[in-house]
Order: sequence, then C-alpha cells, then structure tokens
Amino acid sequence: MDGAAIESLSRQFDVHADPALVDDPARLLACLKDADALIVRNRTQVTRALLDAAPRLVAIGRLGVGLDNIDVDACAARGVAVLPATGANARAVAEYVIATAMLLLRGAYTSSDAVAAGAWPRAALSNGREAAGSTLAIIGFGGIGQLVASLANAIGMTAIGYDPAQPPDAPCWGSTGARPVPLDEALRSADVVTLHMPLTNATRNLLDATRLALLPSHAILINTSRGGIVDEAALASALREGRLGGAALDVFAREPLQSGSVLADVPNLILTPHIAGLTAQSNMRVSTLVASRVAQALSD
Ligand code: NAD
Repeated sequence: MDGAAIESLSRQFDVHADPALVDDPARLLACLKDADALIVRNRTQVTRALLDAAPRLVAIGRLGVGLDNIDVDACAARGVAVLPATGANARAVAEYVIATAMLLLRGAYTSSDAVAAGAWPRAALSNGREAAGSTLAIIGFGGIGQLVASLANAIGMTAIGYDPAQPPDAPCWGSTGARPVPLDEALRSADVVTLHMPLTNATRNLLDATRLALLPSHAILINTSRGGIVDEAALASALREGRLGGAALDVFAREPLQSGSVLADVPNLILTPHIAGLTAQSNMRVSTLVASRVAQALSD
C-alpha cells in the first residue's frame, strides 16, 4: 500500500502495516483478533476461517478489483463490507494490453539478445504487423474492457466484444465504438484477443483447447484477468506448434509459477508477474481510494 495512504489512515486509526503477514497465516490470524478492518491485495485468502479469527471485523479493503481471493458470501453473511478499488487500476491494465499487443504484433522483443550478440535478424522480423487495421476481440466488457476498446479505437484497431451481461443495445458499445458479437465469432475474427472478466465457476477454463482452436493461427492472446480462465497446457501446445501467433500472460492458475511449469521456454510468450494493474500512479490511486473507503466504513 502506498505510504501516504497508510499515513493518512494512521492519523485516524491504530494501523498495523506488515506486508510479511501474507506469508505467515498463523501470525495474520493472531493479528486479526482485535482488528476492525483488514486491507489485502490478491494473495491473502479471505476464508471463513479467517473471518472466524476476526470477530470485530466490519470492512475488508481490497487493493485491486478481482475478488476471487475473498469469500464474498461469507463476508455478506457476517455483515463485513468488501471494498475494492473499482476503476483505480483500469488505465494501467488497458495500457499493458495495448503495449503487449503491439510488441507481439511486431515480434521485435525477441531480437535483443541476438542484436547484442552481433546478429542482425532483420529478415525474420520484417513481417511484423501494425495495430491499425487489426481486429481486437475484448472478452468481458466491464470497466477495463471498455477502456481497452477506447484506446484501441484511438490507434485505429477495430474493436469487437463479448459480454453476456451487456446486451447489444447497452450504451457501452456505442460509447466505445466496439461491436458486440457472440463469443465464438469474436475468437474466429480476432487478430488480438484480450480477456477482462472475473474468475468464477462460469469463466474457469473458458479458453480451453476447443476455444483456443477457434483463433486464427496468427492471433495473439492477452490475459490480464485471472489464471484459471485459460488452459495453460493447451495454450503452451498451441504456441509451440505454431497454431497461435503469440501470447502475453500476467496471471496464472498458480502464482508464482512453479519451476517446470508448462509455460517455461514457450516461444512468442511474454510472462509478467501480475503487474498489469500496477504502476506508480495506479498504486497511489488504488491505495488512496481503499484508504478512504475503509475509513468511511469505520466511521459509519
Ligand atoms: P468489471 O466487473 O468492471 O467487468 C467484468 C466484466 O466481465 C463484466 O461486465 C461481466 O459481465 C463480464 N463477464 C462475466 N462473465 C463473463 C463471461 N463468461 N464472458 C465474458 N464476460 C464476462 O471488472 P474489471 O474492472 O473490468 O476487471 C476485470 C478483471 O480483471 C477483474 O475481475 C480482475 O480479475 C482482473 N484484473 C487484473 C489486474 C491485473 O493486474 N492483472 C488488475 C485489475 C483487474
């Protein structure tokens, strides 16, 4: 959490700020005995057992937006408010999507080691594609998906999208210039596919081997939503066998990745450690928003 946000909370409350607690569940539970509020990122699992250890808890601030690490039903049953930083890191994620899409379209990131070593792989990298004119399929058209569509339009990409909760006459399509299409059609027509939905029982493994096979062989897949939505083994095979053009993954079924992962040494694959939503600016916005929401909940 940004230091200034911790300081502002400390002026009103007795704050115990200790990021190491995430790796020490026993000490975390002990700390929660007298806690009125808890602030977490995505690694702390907020389970019934954790809530049992925190009888005074009234609010949980989430420094991010995905709530798959929080048992929201158990929180609701106990009257504990769950307070995410809705919208505060959307810009960072949207820029990550456009940046990785452009890198993968050009293939240029693969040349650094070779060029430094004196090679000149110009011919191999001369068939890169421009973002302008490419079709971007946005699966999940909530806050982040809509911002990605606006950025894509600004650089001349054609945005199409799929979201079961956004009917074709929803204003978000017109306002962002994206066209709603069924999921399979979105995958078949895409030069770039980007995923922006929560991990739920309905979205787990949504991009399985069968759906990945619908993508054109030059297509690029970007996943900043949650691991578990893409079948990692099927994706690795598609990239190794040239059935997919490239991929960028910021999230994984298990984080951190374990050594010997199916994603190791896969060609045309960018891996980042769950940082799409994390920039200096977004961390400040996220922290400030969560601090004020938690402070408000404690004052109510
Ligand atoms: P949001 O709630 O505004 O939008 C999510 C959208 O997904 C909703 O419109 C919903 O209808 C749609 N959806 C649900 N099920 C779907 C399905 N089966 N197919 C297609 N769409 C479906 O959320 P958001 O702020 O846009 O964030 C999306 C996700 O991005 C979060 O849940 C979180 O997991 C992830 N995220 C990751 C990072 C990161 O750093 N990597 C940062 C922020 C958010």
